[in-house]
Amino acid sequence: MTDRVVVALDVGGTGMKCALVRPDGTVHHTERHPTLPARGPEAVTANILDIAAGLADRARADGLDPIAVGIAVPGVIDEENGIAVWSSNVGFRDVPVRALITERVGLPTALGHDVRVGGIAEARLGAGQGERHVLFVAIGTGIAAALVVGGIGYGGAHGAAGEVGHIVVRPGGTPCPCGSRGCLEAETSARAIGAKYAHLTGDPDVTALDVVTRAGNGDDQARRIWDEAMAALSDGLLTAQALYDVSVLVLGGGLAEAGEALLEPVRAGLAERATFHRLPAVRKAALGDNAGCIGAALLALDHLELSA
Ligand SMILES: [Zn+2]
Repeated sequence: MTDRVVVALDVGGTGMKCALVRPDGTVHHTERHPTLPARGPEAVTANILDIAAGLADRARADGLDPIAVGIAVPGVIDEENGIAVWSSNVGFRDVPVRALITERVGLPTALGHDVRVGGIAEARLGAGQGERHVLFVAIGTGIAAALVVGGIGYGGAHGAAGEVGHIVVRPGGTPCPCGSRGCLEAETSARAIGAKYAHLTGDPDVTALDVVTRAGNGDDQARRIWDEAMAALSDGLLTAQALYDVSVLVLGGGLAEAGEALLEPVRAGLAERATFHRLPAVRKAALGDNAGCIGAALLALDHLELSA
């Protein structure tokens, strides 16, 4: 019997992670491609269709049977109708991604939200495995979260659930791209931490991971920035815990590469602040860069099962 695989794409503002994923979540093959959003949404879409078709061909060439396509996109996603409603960093507005891929590749296709499918993958196969209530929080350029209950992602009434990055943690604080001030994302995203350190020291090329490394090496300014960021993060995550009451909080995205330097102050910060709350276990995401592709594939398999 031919092994079945799902063609999976995780489309971001700068790059697309692409893979052939087996039904058990293991990855057969990966590819990376630039997204090039400056060329416009039509060009990005055409590129996505070429890559998806190419991956299906690659699967067949490897003696595998491609059975579906799963694609993850950031922004507001209408999962039910397969439409990328709005995605500023890819340039999508009302793009019927699912119908376009189905037509081109000839396979059933599922479209999901990038962080939500990452959360599904972490909850089922990664750091949340075995837990029923999981909150996955991706901390990178921005901050977004996915509530996953019983392995199913919660999308909300408008496909926009999980925007914990816009919980205001410092009223009147740093301006946020959303138009508000003092949002969690504006205070503690990887970009925000790097920008705050740059502002304080005049050194423009420092990443958030550099800041935490410097803090560990006795740089007082880096220590202050990092501690303030961890305090704001703890405030935001405690609010998330008050709303969702999960048993595991999985931290992913670029900032999670800080490891215990991130997890430890978050655990301590939550414990310090908690009143009535039951505290979740706080873990680093386990699937790394492939979480989006694996989750997109799992979502596609879920849709196949529903339609069977
Ligand atoms: Zn905001």
